[in-house]
Amino acid sequence: MDSGFRPSGGPGMTNGVRVMHVLICGGGVIGASIAYFLGIRGIKATVIERTGIACAASGKAGGFLARDWCDGTPVQHLARRSFALHAELAEQLGEDWGYRRLTTYRGGASFGTPRRGGAYDRGWLSAGVAVTQALGSTETTAQVHPAAFTAAMMRAAQAHGAELRLGRVTGLVRDRARVVGVKIDGETIAGDAVVIAMGPWSVLAAAWLPLPAVFGLKGHSLVFDAGASVPAEAAFIEYRDASGDVQTPELFPRPDGTIYVCAISSESPLPLDPADVAPDPGAIERLHAICRDLSPALASAKIVARQACFRPIARDGAPLIGRVPGVDNAYVATGHSVWGILNAPATGEAMAELIADGAARNIDLSPFDPARLPPLDPARMRRAVTPATARAVVQQAVADPVIAIASAP
Ligand SMILES: Cc1cc2nc3c(=O)[nH]c(=O)nc-3n(C[C@H](O)[C@H](O)[C@H](O)COP(=O)(O)OP(=O)(O)OC[C@H]3O[C@@H](n4cnc5c(N)ncnc54)[C@H](O)[C@@H]3O)c2cc1C
Repeated sequence: MDSGFRPSGGPGMTNGVRVMHVLICGGGVIGASIAYFLGIRGIKATVIERTGIACAASGKAGGFLARDWCDGTPVQHLARRSFALHAELAEQLGEDWGYRRLTTYRGGASFGTPRRGGAYDRGWLSAGVAVTQALGSTETTAQVHPAAFTAAMMRAAQAHGAELRLGRVTGLVRDRARVVGVKIDGETIAGDAVVIAMGPWSVLAAAWLPLPAVFGLKGHSLVFDAGASVPAEAAFIEYRDASGDVQTPELFPRPDGTIYVCAISSESPLPLDPADVAPDPGAIERLHAICRDLSPALASAKIVARQACFRPIARDGAPLIGRVPGVDNAYVATGHSVWGILNAPATGEAMAELIADGAARNIDLSPFDPARLPPLDPARMRRAVTPATARAVVQQAVADPVIAIASAP
């Protein structure tokens, strides 16, 4: 099948043989997984990452995996294939990134009110939590440590010839309907194809390619060092806090003795620089108060990370995975929302097949075709001219996605 690949002089040489060279913009779980699956097909990848592998959501997510929770949605087959691939990768690559199967529960709690008495109550949760349902078994739910998984995928990609290049992608070099290179901090590297996988920062690529808008929805999390006492279980709790607000904290004890808890979403603006992502004022304190109420193991445990990150979301909620419309050798893989860690392996596999063979074999990518959504008009992306020292933010409004890269004092 014709992939549209025409060698254009990139540096992809293996044993004197010219191989395809793919430039992947973004070193999150999606970029690293694409690099790995290209690598096992003998295709050279260079991952260009601005800040550090897994520095954003891919390092700060829960790492929860579910086989069938996306059933009945466009993501069903991607999720099921990914769940199977996670198990295979954990077995095949021989690295420990905290993969294990879990039993997963649902419960409810109200601030300060003893409620225990649910059919499935767990000893590691407090008396205020009534656990009412088993949501998943070791057949259907699992977890990874997302930063460790992403780093391991990148290392495995490097073992297959991939390179990691630290630098900020600032634009693409075009030759009519083809991309021939990526600009990194003023320098250009040549390649045969480019993949935009910059999570919520993929919105910046709408200035370079006809791409739909991508938004970032912020979430907060805490990681506690609780010792090794918590079993392989996860809990999704509906919690009414002291002010009457309902939060839905997710608790993921990890094999390393830590417990990850996330909750409290916000529509705060996405900083232009991933290194500038920080929790909203007061959000960590609110989350900590919830955690103290949910589990005695958390009330006394040391906090080892207080963090926030942005889920990448396309306008209709489904990922964007495929060829950029009208550009022969440009691809996008983003918008995985709350399931990016789960869906990274099958996304990587499908993208590698699409780039190498012209079509994905295991997954029907048509529900994720970027052409289903209108491209973001670059004229709506306004760059305010600012002093070099000014902090920039990408402001976003989900209802009316006028994107402004504007100065902040
Ligand atoms: C609180 C929270 C909990 C979550 N829990 C789960 C979970 O339990 N299970 C699950 O499956 N998913 C979960 N997710 C979702 C998951 O984290 C994301 O879908 C996934 O990490 C997205 O990966 P990505 O590679 O697309 O983007 P990112 O991880 O955002 O990576 C994008 C990369 O691009 C880089 N970049 C940005 N701009 C540039 C540039 N100009 N040049 C070069 N590089 C650039 C960034 O530095 C970053 O490393 C969670 C998300 C949040 C916020």
